[in-house]
Amino acid sequence: MTTTLLKTLPVDDGSVTLVDHMGNDLSVVNAARVSFGKRKTELEEKDIKLIKYLASHKHMSPFRHVVFSFTLEDISEVVCRQLYKHQVGCAYTSGEFRESATTWNEISGRYVEFDPEFHVPSEFRQQHKSNKQASLEGEIVEDNNLALQVYKDALENSFTSYKKLLELGVCKEQARMVMPLSFKNSLIWTTSLEATVHFIKLRDHQGAQLEIRNLARAIHKLIEPICPHSIEALLSL
Ligand SMILES: Cc1cc2nc3c(=O)[nH]c(=O)nc-3n(C[C@H](O)[C@H](O)[C@H](O)COP(=O)(O)OP(=O)(O)OC[C@H]3O[C@@H](n4cnc5c(N)ncnc54)[C@H](O)[C@@H]3O)c2cc1C
Repeated sequence: MTTTLLKTLPVDDGSVTLVDHMGNDLSVVNAARVSFGKRKTELEEKDIKLIKYLASHKHMSPFRHVVFSFTLEDISEVVCRQLYKHQVGCAYTSGEFRESATTWNEISGRYVEFDPEFHVPSEFRQQHKSNKQASLEGEIVEDNNLALQVYKDALENSFTSYKKLLELGVCKEQARMVMPLSFKNSLIWTTSLEATVHFIKLRDHQGAQLEIRNLARAIHKLIEPICPHSIEALLSL
């Protein structure tokens, strides 16, 4: 089966792009078989069995020979903060598109003035009744328009205050403290296959926030054609 390799997918009002990748299902198999001095050029049925065996017996190192690089553009800082919690097998670079590359931790906000770009949800979900952390997917608040207006007013207020503080001569590193978590960030995320699937398992889950679920689902779609058997085996654990 051949599947078209997707490059960019929308995530809310931002996007995720698979900019680079190394390896595929065969790389996992070859990494595992190197101890026997063997190398294959085509994936066979018994290799797919080997992938399942490796996953089910937690022989994880072969799954680290496949690596992906994604650029995330215009993703809210709320989602980025949740992504940053995934630390093992991942590397980040932020600000790639607006200034020279730095590390992920908002150094850009010290050097570069923020643009008035914020994530604005089109629908406001109700608070979950029993799960204090969650929302009720599909259950929109009664006065969605009013909620939207309150949200937009708060954004405008924050951004106006930010600009006023800068005009008063306040340094960027302090003025940015009035910015809301909805500001849009851009970064590069480079991860191993193992770490990516771990992220998908935890974040495309009903306990996770819808916005990061949308990111996890998009990432899943982008990598699926590259190593479908490994992903299936790792997700089944
Ligand atoms: C639904 C949901 C709700 C969450 N809510 C919160 C919250 O309220 N507050 C909050 O702070 N975080 C929260 N998190 C983040 C969560 O605690 C994890 O930090 C995040 O999911 C990353 O998972 P991880 O630690 O497995 O990933 P990584 O840091 O990438 O680690 C990958 C794996 O490496 C191993 N590992 C990593 N570090 C160590 C270590 N020191 N010793 C031994 N083994 C290690 C573990 O097997 C780990 O699973 C939430 C996550 C989810 C999915």
